Amino acid sequence: MNRKKGRVGENGGEKERTGRRKAWTLAGWAALLLPAALWAAVYLWRGVPSVLAWWLIQAYSLLAVLLVALGTAACAFKVSAALTRLAAGRGKRAGRAGCPPVSENGGAGGRARVRGNKVLRTGRTGRALLAAGMLLGAWPALWFAGVGQMAYPADPARTGPAATVVSPFAEETVVGWGGDALEGNYHVVAPNERWAYDLLADPAGIGSSRLGDYGIYGMEVFAPAAGTIVEAEDGEADHAPGESESATLAGNHIYLRLDKTGTYLVFAHLMQGSLKVEAGMHVEVGRPLGRVGNSGSSSEPHLHLHHQRQNPAETNMFVSEGLPLYFEGESGAFMPVGGVTVRNGRDVPTGERLAPYTGTAEVP
Ligand SMILES: [Zn+2]
Repeated sequence: MNRKKGRVGENGGEKERTGRRKAWTLAGWAALLLPAALWAAVYLWRGVPSVLAWWLIQAYSLLAVLLVALGTAACAFKVSAALTRLAAGRGKRAGRAGCPPVSENGGAGGRARVRGNKVLRTGRTGRALLAAGMLLGAWPALWFAGVGQMAYPADPARTGPAATVVSPFAEETVVGWGGDALEGNYHVVAPNERWAYDLLADPAGIGSSRLGDYGIYGMEVFAPAAGTIVEAEDGEADHAPGESESATLAGNHIYLRLDKTGTYLVFAHLMQGSLKVEAGMHVEVGRPLGRVGNSGSSSEPHLHLHHQRQNPAETNMFVSEGLPLYFEGESGAFMPVGGVTVRNGRDVPTGERLAPYTGTAEVP
C-alpha cells in the first residue's frame, strides 16, 4: 500500500474500498448480533439452550475483551505513529487526531482518504457496529472480577419440577448461601446451581485452620428425600480450611435421583471415606449417607446441596439446569435465604436457620 495522496480513485481502488466496506459492515453486524442473539436465547428460551447461551455469553465476553484490547492497542499505535509524523514535520495534512482516521494516507480500511475534495471513510459504519458489538459482548467479563454480577434469569415459580425435602441434618444448621437472589446466594450466577445451598453449623466462619473447630465438620448427612444413589465417591482428601488446592470442584460427593420427580440432588464437599451408600442403592428419608467434610472447592467445612434436572454423573455442568429446592417447614415448603457478613475479615454465615430433621433415622 504505497499509494500517494489523492491517487486512490482508480476503479481497482474503488472496488477494493467497496469490498472492504462490506466486510467491515458484515463483521460489525456479526459482532453485534451474536451477543444479542445469546441474550435473547437466555430470556426467551428455557432449559438447556438458555443455559448454554448463558455460558457462551461469558466465554464470548473474554474473547471480546481480548479483541477490544487489541483494537485499542492498534488505535493507540496509529495515533502515536501519526503524532510522530506530525512532530517530524512529515504529516502536514494529518492534523486529525483520534482513531480511526488519523491520516489521509492509504492503508488499512477505515482511514480517511482524499478524492478530490471529498473525504471517503472506508467501513465507518461497520467499525461503529463492531465497536458497539464488542462492548455489548465484553461487559459480562466484569462478572469474573465480581463486578455487576447478575442471577441467571429463571423464575422459581415457573421452573419445574421443584423438590421439597427435609433437612439433611439432625441438628440445627445455618444457611450460608441460599435462596433466589444474588445478595443471599452467590450460586445464582451458575444455572446448574441456581437455587443451591451452602449449609453450615455453629461455630462457622471462625477463621480456624483446624477442621474439627467447625460445627458442621463430621456431622452426619441424612437422605432428605427418597431416591436412588446414582454416584457416590469419597476418595478425595479433606483439606485444611482456607487452602484452595483441590482435585475436583465437588470433592467427595453423592448424586441422588429423587423418586418423586426423577430429578437429582447433588451433595458436595463430603468427608473422605465417610460414605455409607453406593451407586444403585435405594434410600428412604433419614437414611445416613455420609459425613460433612472439606473436600473439593471449599473454603471451610460445609454441605453444598443443589437440585438439577440432568443426571450429574452423565451431564456436563455447562448444560445442566438447576431446579428450585424447598425445605419442609412448620408452615409449608419454604426456600431459606442465606447471608454472609464479613466480621474481622471473616465470612460469617448469617442466613436463615434450618430446623433439624427429627424423623427416625434408619440404621443401615
Ligand atoms: Zn456451594
